[in-house]
Amino acid sequence: MTVDVFAPWEDPTEKPLIQFKGVTKRYGSFTAIDNLTQDIYTREFFALLGPSGCGKTTMMRMLAGFETPTEGQILIAGQDMAAVPPNERAVNMMFQSYALFPHLSIWDNIAFGLRRMKMPKAQIEERVEEMLRLTRMTQFARRKPHQVSGGQRQRVALARSLARAPKLLLLDEPLGALDKKLREETQFELMDIQEKTGTTFVIVTHDQEEAMTVASRVAVMDHGKIIQVATPPKIYEEPNSVYVADFIGDVNIIEGAAHKTSEDGYDIHWAEGQEPIHAKTTTVLSEGQKAFVALRPEKISIGEEKPEGAVNAVKGKIIDIGYLGNISTYHVELPGGVMVKAQATNTRRLSRRNFTWEDEVWLSWTLTAASVLER
Ligand code: ATP
Repeated sequence: MTVDVFAPWEDPTEKPLIQFKGVTKRYGSFTAIDNLTQDIYTREFFALLGPSGCGKTTMMRMLAGFETPTEGQILIAGQDMAAVPPNERAVNMMFQSYALFPHLSIWDNIAFGLRRMKMPKAQIEERVEEMLRLTRMTQFARRKPHQVSGGQRQRVALARSLARAPKLLLLDEPLGALDKKLREETQFELMDIQEKTGTTFVIVTHDQEEAMTVASRVAVMDHGKIIQVATPPKIYEEPNSVYVADFIGDVNIIEGAAHKTSEDGYDIHWAEGQEPIHAKTTTVLSEGQKAFVALRPEKISIGEEKPEGAVNAVKGKIIDIGYLGNISTYHVELPGGVMVKAQATNTRRLSRRNFTWEDEVWLSWTLTAASVLER
């Protein structure tokens, strides 16, 4: 069986739906978006991630037409948006506060925008019913927003945003108001609806797990720049910098000096008198260059004995243990005071606590477990 992988960004003949071309946005002397160039493709679920104030909302607002770039160009479906007002763009923006009309029924909330655009009555009915079916809200159509749950209100807001069939839907923290469990369920609904409607979604979220779950590609931003754009597995497994590695998930960063050992192999000397870390990487480093080994806690095995034949094995002492039910995180001090987190899955319900505080343990990992980064 061949699986058709959705990756239009890898196809040079594919035309992007959205093009940022050298876009800069300044507020006075402050640069919110810094010379940003990025393509986003039809049917993508594109997630913007980054710390508060890095420019995510500014990017969305420029797409929607609520802000104009100071420099550069934004194109949607090949058309320069500079002179196109928000209401004439095939773009809809769904805000964190869904802003449903409390006095209108769910049905009328969804119909609101369609009436405003003077769609014929029969067509409105058809469209609203379709949106209700899509979001599984048909049975609640006559209720007011306060008579349904938070998750259901969220689906109404989505139905309303999609009713006018925008080419592009911008979602600013759309699930921010939901609790964790409902949030996770709604993420899958969101993906399902996105797939069924074929709409392109750009989502801003603070929640990196959410971005990883829903997105076709994740963009990690910092100070108005995109630092890396990649699929969720790639951004997790092959971060291009310490910043990205650290932003997505938990990671150990060990600093050292690089020494080339083969075509794609390096030894990273990280502590006096210690065996260097052996790693394989596509990163090219010069002799003695400062390098960072980025190693995810779940990629490290923890054991009582030195594992035979392990490529990387180092002895340390358990300083702290974090028990999370499904997994435990061990904070282990290595020679020279370097602290490393290693994770183990708790497969048995009442397993004996294998390790405890102050225990001496061996940490080991493979040649390809870590990323070697230049910065
Ligand atoms: P958050 O995650 O906190 O919402 P964000 O990444 O969405 O942050 P933006 O809202 O895009 O950040 O803001 C980017 C930067 O631009 C911030 O430093 C913000 O203070 C600044 N900024 C945004 N709008 C304006 C404005 N109208 N005037 C001046 N500065 C602004």
